[in-house]
Amino acid sequence: MEAIIQASPAAIMLLDPDGTVRLWNPAAERMLGWTAEEVTGKVLPAVPPEHWDAFRHSLERATRGTVLDGAHLAGRRRDGSAVQLAVWTGRVHPANGPPQCLSMMVDITERQRGEAAQRFLAEAGGVLAGSLEEEETLERVAHLAVPAYAETCGVFLEDESGGVRCVATAGGGEPGEVPPPGLAVVMRVIQSGRPETRSGLSDGDPTSARAGGTFAYLCVPLQVRGHTLGALTFVTSKRAYDAQDLALAQELARRAALALDNASLYRDARQAIRLREEFLSIASHELKTPISALVLQVQSLMAGLARSGAQFDPERLRRGLERVDRQVKRQTLLVNDLLDVSRLSAGKLELVLVPLELGALVREVAERFEPEFARSGTPLELSLAPEVRGQWDRLRLDQVLTNLMSNALKYGRGNPVRVELDVVEGRARLRVKDGGIGIAREHLPRLFHRFERAVSERNYGGFGLGLWIARQIVEAMGGYIEVDSVLGEGSTFRVELPHG
Ligand code: ADP
Repeated sequence: MEAIIQASPAAIMLLDPDGTVRLWNPAAERMLGWTAEEVTGKVLPAVPPEHWDAFRHSLERATRGTVLDGAHLAGRRRDGSAVQLAVWTGRVHPANGPPQCLSMMVDITERQRGEAAQRFLAEAGGVLAGSLEEEETLERVAHLAVPAYAETCGVFLEDESGGVRCVATAGGGEPGEVPPPGLAVVMRVIQSGRPETRSGLSDGDPTSARAGGTFAYLCVPLQVRGHTLGALTFVTSKRAYDAQDLALAQELARRAALALDNASLYRDARQAIRLREEFLSIASHELKTPISALVLQVQSLMAGLARSGAQFDPERLRRGLERVDRQVKRQTLLVNDLLDVSRLSAGKLELVLVPLELGALVREVAERFEPEFARSGTPLELSLAPEVRGQWDRLRLDQVLTNLMSNALKYGRGNPVRVELDVVEGRARLRVKDGGIGIAREHLPRLFHRFERAVSERNYGGFGLGLWIARQIVEAMGGYIEVDSVLGEGSTFRVELPHG
């Protein structure tokens, strides 16, 4: 029998009821690391002290005749690493001695880890799918891996300016504190799109927030649709990380990135719907106001004519028709803006480039605005360099100027508006400055987007389209448009166009 045991590919040992090893085959040596010489005659070293009582108890049961069928045992190998064993134990009676226990062991560590990983990922999938709110998703991601796979987990995201922020952590650390392994590692991973790991616990990282401690870490990129959103970090001081842990972390990161992407697409879609709804309510209001004024005006003129016939005061008729004309023009502008939205959104902006002297165009638009500026008591100053020439689309530039000047008038609170034109580094530069309500810093980046507004519709009418249209036109001509503004002090819109 001993020869069969020695030749068996399965790990087999023979123990006394007190756990002393009597036989230890080469397969057991390969599985657990101790040689037969090292363990024979000694108490089985593969059972850690905390499991000894349970192990001895099972040996006693086996000695009494119970066959232990694939019992699980959390053991350790000679190198100290953890091992999960399934153990079959039965009693044997040597001819000349007390009963002994014959055990066959199977290493189920990998199988158990694989099963645990599958369970973990299945659970993670459910947790991640449970919310479409970005912040909640981030928190959930951070908490998923703690404590099963890490003591601390951090979620890092890249912001618009290319900086990296820690947006969620789990498993300790002060709020706002960057968990180990620190920002430098995270930035490298985000830039390269490749994971970084320190598998062992041996060396402390002096640059980390836990300076002096020893820990293993995994840092994996959060990637979706070929783009790196950020990174996840997993840190533990309890064990080493291996290739399987890395694969699991990468799979978790892939699912988390997908969930984050869904959350942000959902947020964008909701924002777009909100803007459209707001726009529809503003648009109907805006279109109705001039029509109501128009109807009143026409009715009053018709009533006057009916009363007085040929005696109707021509001056009154002229003033009335002027007002009608103004309302019709306003209505036309609004409708044109609406037409532009569909045209520009479909990418169908066709430019008609002609040689143009920009100063002349500015003067022309300013003249058109004169009566409106005069009516609201807003002074208008022009400072125009001569001979600023280029190949531009005349009607479209007129539209840009009209938008900027009507905004300066609308939001200018009656303070002087100044239009400046000069040439800077070969580019035509046009500035429209007002001393009006200004724009809060946080609104600046989105004003040139469609339907975006920084004022309430109750105080100021408008579609939130003028600046978006202006940007489309200016960019189509190879230029750009920007704004500088201080809330409460005024705004300067600047357009630069390739000159000559
Ligand atoms: P609208 O004026 O129709 O709302 P615009 O696209 O022309 O749309 O402008 C977008 C937003 O930018 C406005 O709603 C307003 O909040 C802000 N804005 C534009 N011009 C000025 C300005 N000169 N001063 C202050 N705010 C401005």
